[in-house]
Amino acid sequence: MTRLIIDSKLLAQLKNRAAAAGSDEICGFLIGSGDEEAAVVSRIVESPNVARDPSRTFEIDPAIHFGIRRRLQRTADEIVGVYHSHPKGPPVPSQRDLERAPQSEEWIWLILAPEKGHGVSARAFRYTSSEEDGPADDWDEVAILFTR
Ligand SMILES: [Zn+2]
Repeated sequence: MTRLIIDSKLLAQLKNRAAAAGSDEICGFLIGSGDEEAAVVSRIVESPNVARDPSRTFEIDPAIHFGIRRRLQRTADEIVGVYHSHPKGPPVPSQRDLERAPQSEEWIWLILAPEKGHGVSARAFRYTSSEEDGPADDWDEVAILFTR
């Protein structure tokens, strides 16, 4: 998947939530359909950030993860990605993100970064395990496109 296609209103909602959460990271799932070309997000499922220190990292509520997987079994939709925010840093994957990325190699990682007085920026990445190329190439940036 080299493109993330999302309704601009949905992305605006996520940006607003990221800004409203102050110093805490927000997190949740991107639900939709995906193939090799693109992931199309049809909705988002928010999760409380259950990390012990939500200002430093995020942890999706396992009950929400389990519940959404079970509900999606009977549909054509799937989890195409995960979103979270970086209240104190740029919208690029952190070392912590890298450590857990191999568990969900298919997912797109959408990262939102509220910057005081400058709105919220968003970038998307996909983890690729490339042992030959070294750590710098562990993530491929995914273009974000809007349906409207
Ligand atoms: Zn992160």
